[in-house]
Amino acid sequence: RAKQEGRNTYRLFRAEMQQQDHRRLELETALRNTAETGEGLAVHYQPLVDRDSGEVQGAEALLRWHHPQFGDVSPGDFIPLAEWSGLILPLGERLMQLVAGQLHDWLAEGLSPPRIAVNLSARQFWQTDLVPRVRALYADYGLPPGLIGFELTESILLDKQQQAVHTLEALREMECRLAIDDFGTGYSSLSYLQELPVTTVKIDRSFIRGLGESRGSAAIVAAVTGLAKELGLRVVAEGVETEAQLAALSRYHVDLIQGYLTGRPVAGEAFAAHYLV
Ligand code: C2E
Ligand code: MG
Ligand code: MG
Ligand code: MG
Repeated sequence: RAKQEGRNTYRLFRAEMQQQDHRRLELETALRNTAETGEGLAVHYQPLVDRDSGEVQGAEALLRWHHPQFGDVSPGDFIPLAEWSGLILPLGERLMQLVAGQLHDWLAEGLSPPRIAVNLSARQFWQTDLVPRVRALYADYGLPPGLIGFELTESILLDKQQQAVHTLEALREMECRLAIDDFGTGYSSLSYLQELPVTTVKIDRSFIRGLGESRGSAAIVAAVTGLAKELGLRVVAEGVETEAQLAALSRYHVDLIQGYLTGRPVAGEAFAAHYLV
């Protein structure tokens, strides 16, 4: 009996797996079409707010995908798929064009947009022509230096450190801000922070969430912000949702707040209406 049940469970499990594979395949096909046509892609912008003055000091560009059949697909679903399939290259290229076009339009309207940060995945960062591509982007859209910056995760930079430093330095020469994203969730050898020419550290939201809850989170926030200050890096607290979290952060060296409390990601039009003058 137990054996029979075990077998049934296994069959159920396998059927579920096949369904998942099927859906993933369908999604991948849809994403491939989207990468080719750009249809259904949009960018949302989330403000980074100065903790002391409340001023908007930057924004993060976040990719959004709406598909006629699948509806709004979460980045948590399609970004891993895009990375794994290689589609992140054409999608990332489209995102950068959209962001550059948006910045160009805002400038043409006489608005003063803040610096916008774009997420780069490993494949994008390791493209041999990343730097000339970025240079061309600035030139094509007539953007002032530094207006578009980048966010990278720790694991990318740990890889070939020497080569990573080389690319980061070239981007720094173009005055791009460079942030380490989701800091604390990766391998987090604190010592490499001083070896990488980055400008910003973004403390992952799991530690912000844990702030009033676990002593461990507070210890990590204290360590990271202390070190960042010593090294002259800007610190962003990610995923700040409550006044209590904001208050808890006042004990540490945090420059910028990014989270639902200070502003959700919104489409370009809404971002301009709310934040730009
Ligand atoms: P991320 O780079 O760490 O971006 C921050 C994520 O946290 C965003 O999720 C944002 O909407 C969410 N968030 C911001 N404030 C809060 C908050 O207060 N509470 C909570 N619960 N969440 C908050 P999103 O847009 O779903 O993106 C998820 C991830 O997908 C991003 O994490 C990033 O790693 C990736 N991603 C998004 N757009 C792109 C892209 O254009 N290129 C690449 N390579 N990755 C992207
Ligand atoms: Mg990011
Ligand atoms: Mg992040
Ligand atoms: Mg994150």
